[in-house]
Amino acid sequence: MISIRRITASLLACVLFGTLQALAYDNASIYSPGQLGAATVHESKPKQILITNVHVFDGLNDKRIMNANVLIEGKLIKEVSKTPIKAVNANVINGGGRTLMPGMIDGHAHVMINDDFGPVERDMDLTDISYNAVIVMERFLMDGFTAVRDMGGPAFGLARAINSGRVVGPRLYPSGGFISQTSGHGDFRDRADPGFSIHDAGDLSNFERMGIGNVVDGVPEALKATRLNLRNGATQIKIMGGGGGSSRFDPIDTTQFSKDEICAIVEAAKDWGTYVAAHTFNDRAVSRLLDCGVKTFEHSFFISEKTMQRIAEEGGYVVPQMWGISPDMARNPLIPEAKKGMVKALGEQYKDFGRNLLKNNVKVVFASDYVGKFEDAERARRYELWWRTQTFDSNFEVLKQVTSTAGEMLAMSGPRNPYSEGKLGVIEAGAYADLLLVDGNPLKDISVIGGTDKWFDAEPEWKPIETIRLIMLSGAIYKNTL
Ligand SMILES: [Zn+2]
Repeated sequence: MISIRRITASLLACVLFGTLQALAYDNASIYSPGQLGAATVHESKPKQILITNVHVFDGLNDKRIMNANVLIEGKLIKEVSKTPIKAVNANVINGGGRTLMPGMIDGHAHVMINDDFGPVERDMDLTDISYNAVIVMERFLMDGFTAVRDMGGPAFGLARAINSGRVVGPRLYPSGGFISQTSGHGDFRDRADPGFSIHDAGDLSNFERMGIGNVVDGVPEALKATRLNLRNGATQIKIMGGGGGSSRFDPIDTTQFSKDEICAIVEAAKDWGTYVAAHTFNDRAVSRLLDCGVKTFEHSFFISEKTMQRIAEEGGYVVPQMWGISPDMARNPLIPEAKKGMVKALGEQYKDFGRNLLKNNVKVVFASDYVGKFEDAERARRYELWWRTQTFDSNFEVLKQVTSTAGEMLAMSGPRNPYSEGKLGVIEAGAYADLLLVDGNPLKDISVIGGTDKWFDAEPEWKPIETIRLIMLSGAIYKNTL
């Protein structure tokens, strides 16, 4: 049966795509397809845009630079100054006393797992999830996100399409299919699937068939999966270091992959100048991952303060989706009634997780990490922005997590970083011109960039965030309602 929803989704993709393209061309003679990719635009003299009369949140400091001017040349910020900047040939945008801030960065998203698990596991193919992903990426950008680290899925073609200007969306850091052991958090085979028994282990689940994940055992298979992802353009490697909530056959307390396997993967990633990110929850798993040199620890809700200290000492990052331990989690209609008590209890038990991370000087990065229908992911993302301000007790801390700290983490891709001409997540000379012009002050009010306490009770249909008035990516304007 052809699903009406699918057709609607791809129609919407066309409509949205058309609108955004038009908007981009309309507002800015500066937009050129391929602006994101390195060395695709040959301009003798890069165009300049001068933004005047703005209060700058630079991604690093808790005080805005008041009444500032920012000059952009080509893809990069050329100057930030409190005194007038002379730029006779620049297009001038009067910021009207609004806040100028770096574009936001999502450190852990699943842009290719964009429908409920049932359909992704059984009914969908690559074209389904690719068409959905076009909408996912456009809305990410329209919500003010200018870079996204994808934590597992066949997003290489999508990254190429974005970099060449064929699809509108944020900078994309793909991991390729996540790498899991048999019975691990990436092993989505059901009992009735081929491959569930060792006698036909060569058969693949739909997850693997589409490239969302790889199930491997032993060092040679782990190395092969890692190297294939690197060959295809992975900017970092994502592995499953322990059990999880969304898969059926790996209890959340389990530790996954042997030390040999993890260390081999990390070494192969290092050989390509990049790093490994691991899905993980507990001390035992994190300590094994740290022994091998894993750099980013996703989720990690159940770790002790001692482990937090070790992560901080070794320069690691924790990238948690805080909604996972929010009191509102128990209202998630996807969680079976019988499990809601447990979810509530976990939220209560780990309510100080965020505060403890900060107390132990751990670098924290924003994560939306919603797997499921993309409409649901969008609602979770906006809720996440708000909920973090409650659990980290500070808008500034959350803004840092979603800008400068995230940008610093992305830079760990080293030579595999496709966007290495400037810094991400900060407003300073030499950084990429990925910028948002916002009504109001997000340091005081997170709702001006979309944060909301509504989640499952939020409207299901995506709507633009009216207070984000201008969105610039790589010096090109994608939204302008000034
Ligand atoms: Zn995830």
